[in-house]
Amino acid sequence: MDYEKLLERAEEKISKELTTEGRFKIPDASVLVQGNNTIVTNFSEIASALERDPRHLLKFLSKQLAAPGSLEGGRASFLGKFSEGQLDSKIKLYAGEYVFCPVCGKPDTKFIEEKGVSKMKCEACGSKRFIKKI
Ligand SMILES: [Zn+2]
Repeated sequence: MDYEKLLERAEEKISKELTTEGRFKIPDASVLVQGNNTIVTNFSEIASALERDPRHLLKFLSKQLAAPGSLEGGRASFLGKFSEGQLDSKIKLYAGEYVFCPVCGKPDTKFIEEKGVSKMKCEACGSKRFIKKI
């Protein structure tokens, strides 16, 4: 094998190691049921991993769980009893809708305002899409 081929291989390996899945991880929800409320104790951590406004995530989860929610410091509280698995699957749903780019599948997106319209812009491939109202 010649040097060029070796170099090519090395580059391939490096780019694979830098793929999205490697560096992007959504923390599992830490859930605490208190009476009739479910508290997500690491809510701010999850929102910052997703790089989204906690209030936006809260609104989505409230609607998905059909449960009123509120922010209390870095925690979120929902009326009703929910399991960690329920929360995790809704958070994944949120990421699929509001974090991952539908074109290239990378999580390098951010919300922007364009002529008064909120859009999600992908930093990786440059595509834009309208943000669905929650
Ligand atoms: Zn993209």
